[in-house]
Amino acid sequence: MNEENKVNTIYSDGTNRDASLKIIKLGSDVGATKNMTVYETANDIIIVDCGIGFPDSELFGVDVVIPDVTYLLDRKHKLRGLFVTHAHEDHLGAIPYVIDDLDVPIYTSKLVQGFIKERLKDKYQKAQVENVSFNLITPDTEEIVLGDFKVKAFGVNHSVPFGMGFAIKTPQGTVLHIADYKIDFTPVLDKPIELGKIARYGDEGVLCLLSDCLGVTAEGFTKSEKALNETFGNFFEKAEGRQIFVTTISSNISRMHQIISAALKHNRKIVFSGRSIEQSSRVSRELGYLSFEDSNFITEKEAMNYKQDSLVYIIAGCYGQSGSGLERLSRGEHGSITLEDNALVIFSADPNPPGVQEPVERLLHNLTVAGSEVIYSEIQDNLHVSGHGLKGDITTITALSKAKYYIPIGGTAAKQRAYTNMVRDLGIDRSRVFELLEGEVLEFRNGEAKLGEKVEVKPVYIDGRYRNELSPVVVKDREQLSEEGVFVAVIPVDSSGKLFPEKVEIVTRGFIYVKDSQALMDRSRKYITDKLKKFSNEKDWNSVRRKLEKDIDKFLFKETGRAPLIIVHTIVV
Ligand SMILES: [Zn+2]
Repeated sequence: MNEENKVNTIYSDGTNRDASLKIIKLGSDVGATKNMTVYETANDIIIVDCGIGFPDSELFGVDVVIPDVTYLLDRKHKLRGLFVTHAHEDHLGAIPYVIDDLDVPIYTSKLVQGFIKERLKDKYQKAQVENVSFNLITPDTEEIVLGDFKVKAFGVNHSVPFGMGFAIKTPQGTVLHIADYKIDFTPVLDKPIELGKIARYGDEGVLCLLSDCLGVTAEGFTKSEKALNETFGNFFEKAEGRQIFVTTISSNISRMHQIISAALKHNRKIVFSGRSIEQSSRVSRELGYLSFEDSNFITEKEAMNYKQDSLVYIIAGCYGQSGSGLERLSRGEHGSITLEDNALVIFSADPNPPGVQEPVERLLHNLTVAGSEVIYSEIQDNLHVSGHGLKGDITTITALSKAKYYIPIGGTAAKQRAYTNMVRDLGIDRSRVFELLEGEVLEFRNGEAKLGEKVEVKPVYIDGRYRNELSPVVVKDREQLSEEGVFVAVIPVDSSGKLFPEKVEIVTRGFIYVKDSQALMDRSRKYITDKLKKFSNEKDWNSVRRKLEKDIDKFLFKETGRAPLIIVHTIVV
């Protein structure tokens, strides 16, 4: 560090040390998920959020992507706390994969704790789950002091209730971290966003505002959750005598509350269907957020013995996820539930999140062909309200904060740019907005901000079936296998290690049709035999194998213009 730039502050403990602050966007991806922000001083680090992202469809067998936490592992002695803003997967979903290594206490709401514990139980033994340290915080909790940081929560609205923003006092000034939010004066389960507190921080002086920017390109304000209060009742009334399904995202407890209230009014019992819906409804009921009589809920199995027009199914799969409850139902392969003729299926979810158009179209098609009446956003208003504020909401928060600097978060690069333009329209110089991308660092000294040295981050893939990290090499192999096939050369070897180059066997799958390509197979075999003879004096089989695989790759590409996955291995004869 340049000594001249070093700013020292006398701390309350009497020490005199470097008082600079770094804000690091450690996670984030093109789809604006995988949220993770790091606040770092010379002595301490706190983290806000730790979410998963969703892979491109070309990433074979990769179910989720998570932030690369190598930077934090290298500074483990400085980690003081992980704060989680709200109960969405792209803000908490990566915790089970990294918490064991990071070993940092988690500070969050009751609902988020409940959701994280469920995810931990999926991956760890009970004792390990109990080892994770949780600290409950609410907007009423006193300021939490963690080294150089003092953190106070305040309430915000979103599609999942009990979201929080954080006022983080740092040696450089107060930072407001407000992830996904909207302004809702009539939310279903929680309280309206605490605009007064945000304004008060603004009056006291805010160094930097980190604000949601996802909805900034649309004019106006997002509607209140309350706008849907009548929606479900109206539909249920018209659906007398019919089977009813409503699908929504599993974390949207307020929406579930509205669906359940409407169902009970129409004397229907509730069936939660699908793992994610069952899990989140169970956690919410245990925590008292869906406080209806137990007798109103029955299981999928019990539902088989009920008249179907006395039930409402709340079912997972609103994005057409393969293998989800609704998707299997639409193909007539659900197992427990049979889709009745003229069933009513209501989609109450964001109609257009990235990457789901095709599976949703297929789902709508299958359900319609199976004889259901399908209600979705394109043909019906008031089926869904967004959890994200529009330009009006975001402008309000930005203006109230009166921050010196701004970092748009939770949106794509294009949305970040739109946020910058919105801020400029407020008369704020655009040099005060920093559109941080993954790994980028904003450094504060003497209350002034400038971009710091980037943190190196690599993609981290998770295969959901094993719930473990997946090497990029494996992902690459899968891609190659699916596009180019595989070419295996089997080389006989005797127990003394002597190779038999003349007896090479070749097996291929998905590469070429062998029967029509006998000549190529013969040439390949001869090529490998010749190569092996050349390598016959080499002792290190692994290096021979690697060289041979490379050579075969070149040979086949020249012959066929294709690049199958190549495997050379020996078999003891
Ligand atoms: Zn969210």
